[in-house]
Amino acid sequence: TTALPGLDASKLTITRADPTARAVPDQATACSGLETICTDHMITATWKHSTGWSAPELKPYGPLSLMPTASVLHYATECFEGLKAYRGHDGSLRLFRPNLNAKRMLMSSLRISLPGFDPTQVEKLILALMAVDGPKWLPRSRPGSYLYLRPAVIGTQPQLGVQTTKEALLFITASFMPLMDSPQGGLKLHTNPEDMIRAWVGGFGYAKVGANYGPSLLATNEARARGFGQILWLYGPEGYCTEAGASNFFVLWRTKEEEGGKLQLVTAPLDDKLILDGVTRRSVVELARERLAGEVEVVERKYTIDEVVEADREGRLVESFAAGTAYFICPVSQIRHRDHDIHIPMGKGESGQYTARIKGWMTDIMYGNEQHPWGVVV
Ligand code: PMP
Repeated sequence: TTALPGLDASKLTITRADPTARAVPDQATACSGLETICTDHMITATWKHSTGWSAPELKPYGPLSLMPTASVLHYATECFEGLKAYRGHDGSLRLFRPNLNAKRMLMSSLRISLPGFDPTQVEKLILALMAVDGPKWLPRSRPGSYLYLRPAVIGTQPQLGVQTTKEALLFITASFMPLMDSPQGGLKLHTNPEDMIRAWVGGFGYAKVGANYGPSLLATNEARARGFGQILWLYGPEGYCTEAGASNFFVLWRTKEEEGGKLQLVTAPLDDKLILDGVTRRSVVELARERLAGEVEVVERKYTIDEVVEADREGRLVESFAAGTAYFICPVSQIRHRDHDIHIPMGKGESGQYTARIKGWMTDIMYGNEQHPWGVVV
């Protein structure tokens, strides 16, 4: 038997939208967050169990057509990605480690029994969309701006019954997104209500499937009503710190005197599959290991909210931040756990100095102030 066609970016067909039909909104409208404004085009590719992947299409942005019985609408057969395209200060357009997003989407797709694909083809499709829409929607006149890219795969087979879908659609859109990384006074986190957890051992919290997100909103809304920005998701009776909203979570503390009293940057580990393997998280870990060597020890391990509370009580808590594509590197100023409040130093108002340095390195790579292999030029 011959193999069915795989996803192949070299077969991309291009149908252009009228470039004068829609104007690029000004920065304020684009980032107001009131609606998601997409660029002129999107990419789609369909898959069928019997025929494999179709030639991908780049075409005008617009609605999808789905039967009400489509698998995704009933059984949440969906996974997605989120990454940004950055207009550099040197004029170039860049993606940040897009290979990692493409690989992660393959992992998520297989986790939810959606089809496999060659992730390098997804990366090429993302680049193709930006090559067409980048010049107009991320103009050279707006260095430092970005677009948010949303690749996704959904199960489209129009058949009820819990079963693996025999038809799927991969699509990629590009849109504006409000700045979320610098809330005034830092990000305030509230730990999850005791009866609501985000992920569990043996579950799928490590996959970027839509089914992880909708159910998290109830807890988030409760926290918002109390004036907090995001949930700090704890796990288990021990209260292990896992993630902050839809981003990874870091704490910088000084270890106890008897443990050397050294600066340590801690974040939850990947091995129990409770958290998403964030591209930002991984980059922070790698950069901090390389550039803060001898100054700060970087540790991926299980740690509990009680350890954070204790560090705070003993004056050892130095900084904390959330890390993700949307929130970028976002300093955390407060954590409320039950009726206990932890206040984290924010340095000179903006963030602590280590948070600022890490954010600075990442920003420089994203916007081309530092030439680095993680910055992939479109
Ligand atoms: N955790 C969760 C649950 C997320 O949804 C995200 C956003 N993708 C992250 C962490 C951060 O991942 P990344 O740095 O790749 O955006």
